[in-house]
Amino acid sequence: MTLQRPASITDAFLQKLVSRVPSTSGGTWKLTEVYSGEVLVELPQSTPADIEQAFASARKAQHEWAKWPLSKRLAVFKRAHKLFLDNAVTTTDLIQVESGKNRRMAIEESCDPPMVMSHYIKRAPKLLASTKRGGPVPFLTTSTEIRQPKGVVGVIAPWNFPFATGMSDAITALIAGNGVVLKPDNKTALSPLYGISMLEEAGLPKGLFQVVCGEGPDVGPTLIDNANYVMFTGSTATGRVIGERAGRNLIGCCLELGGKNPMIVLDDANMDETVQGAVFGVFGNTGQICMHIERIYLPESRYDEFKTKFVAAAEALKVGASYDFGPEMGSLVSPDHKDRVQSHVEDAVAKGATVVTGGKARPDLGPAFFEPTILEGVTKDMLAGATETFGPVVALHRYSTVDEAVALANDTEYGLNASVWGADLSRAESVARRIESGNVNINDILATAFASKGTPSGGVKQSGVGARHGDQGLTKYTDVQNLAVLKKQVMGARPGQDYDAYVKGMLSGLRMMRKTRIR
Ligand code: NAD
Repeated sequence: MTLQRPASITDAFLQKLVSRVPSTSGGTWKLTEVYSGEVLVELPQSTPADIEQAFASARKAQHEWAKWPLSKRLAVFKRAHKLFLDNAVTTTDLIQVESGKNRRMAIEESCDPPMVMSHYIKRAPKLLASTKRGGPVPFLTTSTEIRQPKGVVGVIAPWNFPFATGMSDAITALIAGNGVVLKPDNKTALSPLYGISMLEEAGLPKGLFQVVCGEGPDVGPTLIDNANYVMFTGSTATGRVIGERAGRNLIGCCLELGGKNPMIVLDDANMDETVQGAVFGVFGNTGQICMHIERIYLPESRYDEFKTKFVAAAEALKVGASYDFGPEMGSLVSPDHKDRVQSHVEDAVAKGATVVTGGKARPDLGPAFFEPTILEGVTKDMLAGATETFGPVVALHRYSTVDEAVALANDTEYGLNASVWGADLSRAESVARRIESGNVNINDILATAFASKGTPSGGVKQSGVGARHGDQGLTKYTDVQNLAVLKKQVMGARPGQDYDAYVKGMLSGLRMMRKTRIR
């Protein structure tokens, strides 16, 4: 049976979307529908000169944009919020055709930019307002902290959440008064292109938000060399390359990278809820969520109970290619990525691990499908034991003491997300605080942390530098200007002044300040 594509996915619509991508060379990349492997559209590929031109246009528009009062800028995003929700189904169609994820994950992804918009529409006026700090000499001096936009921000986005990462990070940079040049992954450029068209429909000035396309190593250097700040989401290996180049250019960057995220089940956990959480944590988005779970640590006393229920749930999952809400798990993003996931499983088995369930590709379902897979006996000398697999594959481990579980959870170079399950919340929280991870969820996998837009969310160790969300998620896109005023010439020695008197006066001034300011 041939798969019926969503009605919104017409050739004319796709052509219109990709016409925004500059390409003076005329080179293209074949963007495919994941479920069938058929070419959907030829995606233009940008040359270094195209990228430079994109920055020049964004910079010109940004000079005007930064002069707009904040309330006028925010009005654009209030309108965009409505448009993003009104068009969520079309966005979902695009996310699904280009990424192969199941429909539930695609529609949930479409909701992230509206959540980010509503948070910063409320919060930005406070965060971007000038703040009087007071100068060194009371009454005679002032110092004001002023937030200036960085200029043009380069945003580099991955394929696993192309709309959420491509849009939400860019929108935050725009709210702060910047222009943006976005480089999506070639495989998943359609949904962000649609997002930009909705932002322009909402009143975003044309030219302010540019998009360039190409393979990362071709586009990356010119993009970073022209940007005033880089927001990167992707693998730890690429993050290192981006960070090095940003460092050489002395520009700031935020790096949101990979994980090898642990889940610790405590002996008092509600097992049915824990299993349900693990099913989402491991198989949600076909295991391609940076915050998803790849290692589960269980107390000896509950291991068999968890394993029986979890394996049954994994085997009952409906896996398939469909643009309706039927399948509970969709495809991996590409045949290449499927091969990578498979290689992790094969390597583990060759080194002594056991496949409890799954472990195989499913070419009968589509070119990039892989079974929900549960392993036992995974050790750190295996690829799946030490590095991110980024697929529907998890390893089960036993522990005998909570200290051992914490030590095992921390025995990784990553530190992006962790999940702790237990009925005694204060005990679970004390375990959570000992985990070296930028995010830790109790009795949840990731949604509670990621959807808390008021709290910074980022990785520690090799999982990243900086954070999105929270106050710093916006202020990182600004430079601070310290605007200082001296109302009367009172500071420093005057020519011909008696230095003994000057020193005495200065020290007594400091003593007075100690009395009034330090209590
Ligand atoms: P990737 O690092 O291969 O690619 C990410 C983006 O960087 C793509 O657009 C790619 O084209 C581009 N790129 C690649 N090489 C580049 C270079 N030299 N210069 C500039 N750009 C370059 O990652 P991926 O495989 O697309 O995405 C999956 C990874 O992303 C996983 O490791 C996942 O954990 C991580 N991720 C992290 C977060 C987070 O918030 N921490 C969120 C989503 C995904």
